[in-house]
Amino acid sequence: KTTFNNISHLINERLSRRIVNLLRLIGFFGNEMNSPVYVVGGFVRDLILNIENYDIDIVVEGNGIEFAKYMAQQLNAIVVPYEKFFTANVIFKDGFKIDVATARTEYYESPGELPQVDISTIKKDLYRRDFTINAMAIKLNPQDFGTLYDFFNCQKDLEEGVIRVLHNLSFVEDPTRMIRAVRFEQRYGFKMENYTLDLLKKNLSERYLERVSGSRIRQEIEKILEEKNPIKAIKRMAELDMIKHIFPKTYYTATMEEKFVRLFKFIPYLKERFENFNDFYAVSTIFLEYYDKSTLEEMRAKYGYPKKFIETLKFTENIIIPVKSLIENRYPFSDIYKVCGKSNPYIYSHISAYLDEDEQNYLLSYIDTVLNTRIEKVTGKYLMERYQLKAGPILNNILEELFCLKLDNSNLSEEIAIESIVKKHIEKIEDSSKL
Ligand code: ATP
Repeated sequence: KTTFNNISHLINERLSRRIVNLLRLIGFFGNEMNSPVYVVGGFVRDLILNIENYDIDIVVEGNGIEFAKYMAQQLNAIVVPYEKFFTANVIFKDGFKIDVATARTEYYESPGELPQVDISTIKKDLYRRDFTINAMAIKLNPQDFGTLYDFFNCQKDLEEGVIRVLHNLSFVEDPTRMIRAVRFEQRYGFKMENYTLDLLKKNLSERYLERVSGSRIRQEIEKILEEKNPIKAIKRMAELDMIKHIFPKTYYTATMEEKFVRLFKFIPYLKERFENFNDFYAVSTIFLEYYDKSTLEEMRAKYGYPKKFIETLKFTENIIIPVKSLIENRYPFSDIYKVCGKSNPYIYSHISAYLDEDEQNYLLSYIDTVLNTRIEKVTGKYLMERYQLKAGPILNNILEELFCLKLDNSNLSEEIAIESIVKKHIEKIEDSSKL
C-alpha cells in the first residue's frame, strides 16, 4: 500500500486564513456526509509551486451534488448543480466560487468527443486528468487533513519541471491536451517529457486535433491568450508545427512572429479603450491573413467568427499598406480617418502589427482623437433650417467633412467652419445641375 506524505504545513504557511478555514470546514463536512473529500488539480499544483491560485476544485468520493448542497447550506452559500456531470458550483455571497465534483472516471467513445462519465474513486479520477502535474489531490477530512495523494509520481515531475501525460492514449482521448501541454510548459518554464513529446508529435501528424470542435480549440487558445506571455506559447506551437492543424492555411514565418510581437504590445491599449475586446479575434487577424474566401468561410463556421469580423478582415487587408504609409509619414488624422472609416478595434489591432513603437503611439493618439471627437453644435436639423438643405446623403457628407476638420483641430469653431463647407457643397450641387 502506498503511503503519502502530509503537506498541511504548506497549507498553513502559504494560504490565507480564510482559505485554510474553508478547507478544514470542507473536511469536516466530508466526515458528516461520510465521504472522503479532496482538493485537487491546479490548486494543489500551485500550492506546491507556491503560486497563488484561488480556483478551488473539490472532489468527493460519494455524491458530489449532495455534498455541495450540504456545504452550501452550512456556509450560507448558493449551490448550482449540474446533474448530468455530477458536479456543482458553490457560490458565496461575495462571489467567491468553489467547484465540487464527484470522483469519476471517463470513457471516450470517439476521439475529440466529450467523454462518458462514471462514478469512481479518487485514483481513477486523477488518472483521467491531463498531466501528472495536475493529477494530485490533498485529502481534507480531519483525520487525514493535508495528506497528498500522489499515485503517479506527480510531485517529482512538478519538482523537475516535466509535463507528462498519464497514459499513451491521453492526446487521442482529448486532443485539446496538446494545446494545454504547450500552455503549461510556457507558463511554468517546464519541458514536455520525451515520451509525451513523441506522442504529441505523432498524434498531431495523425490529425487528431482536426477532430475536435472549433469551439473547444478556441477555448484553449483563449486560455493561452490569457497567459502573461502568450507569444511564448505561440512560438512553441509553431515550433511543434501545431499552428497549421488549427489554421490550415497559415505558414508561420519570422515575419509573422514579428507581427505577433507588435500586436501583443498594442493589445493592452485597445483593451483599455474597447469593451469586450476579444484577443482571439485580434490574433486571428494575423493567422487569417491572405486566406481565400472559401477557407475563411470554413474558419468562420469552425471558430464562430461573426460575419462582420470576416468583412473587417478583408477590408483591412486592402488598406493596411496605405494606412501604414500615412502613419509613417504622420499624415493628419483626417486622412487616416478617410481610409479607415469608423472605429473598429480589429482594424486597429491588425494595423498595429505593422507598426513600430513610435508609429503605434501615433495610431493610438489617432484612435483617442476619433473616440473623443464629437460634433456638438451642428446637426442635420441645424443644416436644414439654416441653409434650407434637404435631408439626404449630402447632409451626411457635410457632417463628415466637419468631423474631419475637427479631428485635425479640436479648437475648431463649428459654426464658422460649417459656413465654408456648406458653401462648397452648394456650389458643387449647382455645378452638377448645370451639366
Ligand atoms: P489554470 O491554472 O489555467 O486554471 P487548471 O489546471 O486549473 O489551470 P483548468 O482548465 O481550470 O486548469 O482545469 C482544472 C483541472 O481539471 C486541471 O488541473 C486538470 O486536472 C483537469 N483538466 C482540465 N482540462 C482537462 C482536460 N482537457 N483533460 C484532462 N484533465 C483536464
